[in-house]
Amino acid sequence: MTRTKHTTADWQRLDAAHHLHPFTDYGELNARGSRIITHADGCYVWDADGNKILDGMAGLWCVNIGYGRKELAEAAYRQMQELPYYNNFFQCSHPPAIELSRILSEVTPAHLNHVFFTGSGSDANDTVLRMVRYYWKLRGKPYKKIVIARENAYHGSTVAGASLSGMAAMHAQGDLPIPGIAHIEQPYHFGREPDMDPDEFGCQAAQALARKIDELGECNVAAFIAEPIQGAGGVIIPPASYWPEIKRICAERDILLVVDEVITGFGRLGTWFGSQYYDLQPDLMPIAKGLSSGYMPIGGVMVSDRVARVVIEEGGEFFHGYTYSGHPVAAAVAAENLRILRDEKIIERAGAETAPYLQARWAELGEHPLVGETRGVGMLAALELVKSKTPLERFAEPGKVGTLCRDTSVKNGLVMRAVGGTMIVSPPLVISREQVDELIEKARQTLDETHRAIT
Ligand code: PLP
Repeated sequence: MTRTKHTTADWQRLDAAHHLHPFTDYGELNARGSRIITHADGCYVWDADGNKILDGMAGLWCVNIGYGRKELAEAAYRQMQELPYYNNFFQCSHPPAIELSRILSEVTPAHLNHVFFTGSGSDANDTVLRMVRYYWKLRGKPYKKIVIARENAYHGSTVAGASLSGMAAMHAQGDLPIPGIAHIEQPYHFGREPDMDPDEFGCQAAQALARKIDELGECNVAAFIAEPIQGAGGVIIPPASYWPEIKRICAERDILLVVDEVITGFGRLGTWFGSQYYDLQPDLMPIAKGLSSGYMPIGGVMVSDRVARVVIEEGGEFFHGYTYSGHPVAAAVAAENLRILRDEKIIERAGAETAPYLQARWAELGEHPLVGETRGVGMLAALELVKSKTPLERFAEPGKVGTLCRDTSVKNGLVMRAVGGTMIVSPPLVISREQVDELIEKARQTLDETHRAIT
């Protein structure tokens, strides 16, 4: 099939006429037209007008190995010819799913040796909800059903994923959360108590979990789910005291710990998994995004030996699964992605060299008059736009300034994401030092222009 030669305006018109976008304001889309991305290579994407843009977000925090790796295209081509589809239901399996399961048991923390494959991170969190309830039922505690999550968490967009998420706007539109899900506060130090000692704040935020378990009754609580660092919630990095306290509470109260590594998995924090960065031993660990570097839709839930033993030995049939669970082409591409990450030591190099450089340079932006705080871990960084630094004064409508800053950034050739008034970068792990310099210069120019536009 040859592709029709369209102008940008043609694409935008067709797009507005037929395509309902995810997470997009349709009024704005129709008024301004969408940004049409046509191709990509390394750390850059190109739009339909030929503009070259540094992708500071690695797509949606997922293109960890960068764009244009032909090995992944070849793996897909080979697998499509050999076995384009078969399922893993009813005692069936196939080599790509088996091989990927084996590799995942090697690269994830030692006690995670089984995987349940899904098509995305949202499906993975639906699986989490099903599996934790199933686990406790098999353990003879069918009342342990409630899953506690956090405000501003993002765990996906299916009914279960959006319910576990703590996003007020999503809940308001969908009559969510569904029953059996509760939320506690997020450990957002700068947003809540910037003057409090961070460790004191971290302990206090973690104690909200103990209080919620007591309120609901330990015998009713199945699990606590959290991202090691909240991503879509605004790169909320917990103080050092937070995770040790959460771990202690989960162990003491006998509830499962679910660590959502959809963003932090496969190198984002400079370690293979956020669980290693924070020394966590998750009972379940949802994964997606960096699993295939976004080249194919695939996700999964890594299941600990503790949970897998019960599900395998005490369960019969688990009445759950997706047509595309462990899809052979997606699995073959993911396996090739993991081979590249391992063989080229991309995560180790990012952690040892690129991440410290990115963080040091990103921190320089803290001097800008518009920036109230910079923060980051590994290959993830954020800054908060404020009206005044001293005394600290926030914008009345932070989202407006954030959107202006995001659009200015794209015009300047850099993709940054805005969450309210927080600007975020999460570039491909393969970004070079020179490209980090380019990212910082473009971000600085963007801050200057945004500042001029609002003062
Ligand atoms: N969990 C986390 C932490 C995420 O950031 C996301 C997506 O951004 C999801 C789950 C949902 O993943 P997906 O968009 O693949 O359904």
